[in-house]
Amino acid sequence: MGAIMIRCPKTDELIPVGIDTDQDSFAVLPDVVAAPVQCPACGGTHTWSKRDAILETTMRIRPIKRRL
Ligand SMILES: [Zn+2]
Repeated sequence: MGAIMIRCPKTDELIPVGIDTDQDSFAVLPDVVAAPVQCPACGGTHTWSKRDAILETTMRIRPIKRRL
């Protein structure tokens, strides 16, 4: 299993869209615009589609910037 992530256009951080799936299910997802996601990085909402998204299965990706 992995988490679908998109990159916040404001902060350039990867944020989870709240959907966990596996590689096979992700591969067959239609490329449609999905429901907006509340962004934990900038506080806004972003619409996204599959082409914006990556499937993060390793959990090794860290945010580029950290704010305390
Ligand atoms: Zn954002």
